[in-house]
Amino acid sequence: MTRHRLGLASTVLAACLLVACGGSGGNAPQQGSAPFVVNADGSSSFVDTALSAALAAQPLESLSAAERTSLAYMREEEKLAHDVYARLNTLWGGQTPIFGNIARSEATHTEAVRLLLVRYSLPDPAANLGEGLFVAPVLQQGYHDLTAQGAISLIDGLRVGATIEEIDIVDLENALPTIDNQDIRQVYASLLKGSRNHLRAFVQALAQQGVTYAPAYLAGDAYTAIVTSAVER
Ligand code: ZN
Ligand code: ZN
Repeated sequence: MTRHRLGLASTVLAACLLVACGGSGGNAPQQGSAPFVVNADGSSSFVDTALSAALAAQPLESLSAAERTSLAYMREEEKLAHDVYARLNTLWGGQTPIFGNIARSEATHTEAVRLLLVRYSLPDPAANLGEGLFVAPVLQQGYHDLTAQGAISLIDGLRVGATIEEIDIVDLENALPTIDNQDIRQVYASLLKGSRNHLRAFVQALAQQGVTYAPAYLAGDAYTAIVTSAVER
């Protein structure tokens, strides 16, 4: 199927993509230049080289305290998603590829935030931290709780996945009004799109197990709007 190739020109990053490409002709293969791609299974990843080029093409704006705090936190929050899914993949990977596939996406999410930290010459809280280790106490506690819950059964693991994606969506939506730098806003918008796609994937996997997921963090109408709409390309 070619369906997954149709939406590669991310609306979110289309503007910087054009800048990064110098506005040259429209026949360049998008696979090689789109900073954010959505795979057939909904897992949604940054393309490191394309993101770096897109960021480098934008002016460096001054950074507010809120932006600084948010970047440090989101670097670790995306690492949390990766580390939990990597752990759950060791438990449930023989039954489903979802944790491994989405863990690979999350590795690119936390790397995208790291690139922003580098861009602004900020320290990386996750530097030299192994899997399952975090500076923010709430995330360290979250890792322990979520991996314990997700170890109970495959269904509990899938529920943990949906929960993590809900929390990511809420945290990113709460952060965005405090952020005006365009490079950060564009990365966060892609992270949000990825989280909505991942939420859809976990909820669908639960449905295939006969389980209806009930949201714990998103408002009911916001949750329904996401899971009843198609994967965003
Ligand atoms: Zn993510
Ligand atoms: Zn995700």
